[in-house]
Amino acid sequence: KIAIHWFRRDLRLEDNAALYHALKSGLPVLGLFIFDRHILDKLQDKTDRRVNFIYQEVKRLKAELEKLGSTLLVKYGFPEEVWPQLTEELPISQVFANRDYEPYAQKRDKQIYDILQSKGIKFTGAKDHVIFEKNEVLKDNGQPYTVYTPYSRKWKEKLNDFYLKSYPTQAYFSNFYKSNPKPIPTLEEMGFVTTSYEYPSREIPMGILQNYHLKRDFPATQGTSRLSVHLRFGTISIRTLARLAASTNEKYLNELIWRDFYQMILYHFPYIPDKAFKPEYDRIQWENNEDHFKAWCEGRTGYPIVDAGMSELNATGFMHNRVRMIVSSFLTKHLLIDWRWGEQYFAAKLLDYEMASNVGGWQWAAGSGNDAAPYFRIFNPALQTEKFDKHLDYVKKWVPELNTSAYPKPIVDHTFARNRAIERYKKALEQK
Ligand code: FAD
Repeated sequence: KIAIHWFRRDLRLEDNAALYHALKSGLPVLGLFIFDRHILDKLQDKTDRRVNFIYQEVKRLKAELEKLGSTLLVKYGFPEEVWPQLTEELPISQVFANRDYEPYAQKRDKQIYDILQSKGIKFTGAKDHVIFEKNEVLKDNGQPYTVYTPYSRKWKEKLNDFYLKSYPTQAYFSNFYKSNPKPIPTLEEMGFVTTSYEYPSREIPMGILQNYHLKRDFPATQGTSRLSVHLRFGTISIRTLARLAASTNEKYLNELIWRDFYQMILYHFPYIPDKAFKPEYDRIQWENNEDHFKAWCEGRTGYPIVDAGMSELNATGFMHNRVRMIVSSFLTKHLLIDWRWGEQYFAAKLLDYEMASNVGGWQWAAGSGNDAAPYFRIFNPALQTEKFDKHLDYVKKWVPELNTSAYPKPIVDHTFARNRAIERYKKALEQK
C-alpha cells in the first residue's frame, strides 16, 4: 500500500504541509503532478510563460525526488480520468494534497474526493497556501470580513509562532516510495513550445524586505520582492516568508495579509470573478470601445505611464504594483471599459496570475470591490507619474519612442474622461 502526495500549487519538498502529513502517515509516499487539460486547453498562447515555469519547476522537483531514490509521477490529462486509472495501476490507500481556494479547484477536488471515496481511498487536504484560510479569521459575529483594515488587525492578533512554524519534511524524506525514474511528457507533446525566460529568483531578497516601506512604490527601482510567481506556485513557503516579514518589515507583512484576505474573499464569495462584489456596479453602462481596448493592451494610449506598464507586462509578464493600479484605473475609469476585460487580459499575460488577487485588484480599481476606493476618486496618470516616476526612468525604459513622432496622442482627454466616469458611475449607483 502507498500514499500519493498530489502536488498542485505547492511545488516544493521543504515546509510543505500536506506532504508532511503524507510522509508521517506510515505509508511510502509517491509524488504526483498532473498537467491538467481543463486548464491547459484554455490557454491560447502556446509559449505561455506559466506553463514553461511550471514545467521547469516540475522537472526540478522530480530531480530532487530522484536524488532521494524516489521519483515524481507526471501525468497529462483530465484529473477525473487520470485518477481512476491511477487507482487501477497502483496500490493507493491514501491521497494527500494542499487546499486550493479557486472555484475550479474546489469543484475538481470535490469530484476527485468522490471518486477516491467510492474506491475506499481517503483524500486528506491541508492548509498550505495561506497563513489563515476560510473561517479562521472572522468578525466577532461569525461573518467573514469584507474590509481589509479590521481583517488585518484580527489576523495579526491571531498570529503566533504556531502558524508560522515550518513543517520539517526533511526529517521524513526516507519515507518516500523507492522507485526508478519515470519518463515525463514533453511540453511539445502537450501542445506547448519550450521557451527560455528569465524567471524571478526564488531567493528571499532580505535587503529589499528591509527597505520595502521606502521603495515599494517606485517602479523604476527594484523595491519589491518579485516573489509573487513563487507564492503563486508554492515554490517558496508562505510560512517561511511571513516569518521573515514579521520580524523584518510590517509593511511587507501587510502585503502578505492582502494576499490572505483576497484568498479568503474568493472562498466566501466565489461569484466575484464574474460579477461585481457590489451588485449595483453591474449597472454601469460601459463604453467597451474595442479600439480603445486594443490601444490599452498594446500600450498605445498616449498616456506614458499607462503605456509603459502595458509594455512591461507584454514584454516580461510582470508589472509593478503601483502601475497595475494606474493601468487598471485608466481602463475602467478613463476608458469606461468593463473591468472583466482587463482582468482577462492580465490573466492571459501575468506570470504571477492569481485569480483571487487579480479579481480583487480589478474590482478595487473599478470601485465595485468589497474594499474599493470611492468611485469619484480617479487616478490622474500625470500626477501619479510626478509622484512615483518623477524623472521618467520607468517610462523611458518601457516607452523609448516617447518624445518622437511615433508616440501617439492621448486617446481621451483626462478632464473629459474624469467627468464622464463620475457621471456614468453616479447614474448607475443612483438607480433604484
Ligand atoms: P511585493 O510588493 O514584494 O509583495 C510581496 C507579496 O505580497 C507579493 O508577491 C504578493 O504575493 C503579495 N501582494 C502584494 N501586493 C498585493 C495585493 N495588492 N494583493 C494581493 N497580494 C499582494 N498579485 C498577484 O500575485 N497576482 C495577480 O494576478 C495580481 N493581479 C493584480 C491586479 C491588479 C489590478 C492589481 C492592482 C494588483 C494585482 N496583484 C496581483 C497584486 C500586486 O500587484 C502583486 O502581488 C505584486 O505587484 C507582485 O510583485 P512583488 O512580488 O514584487 O510584490
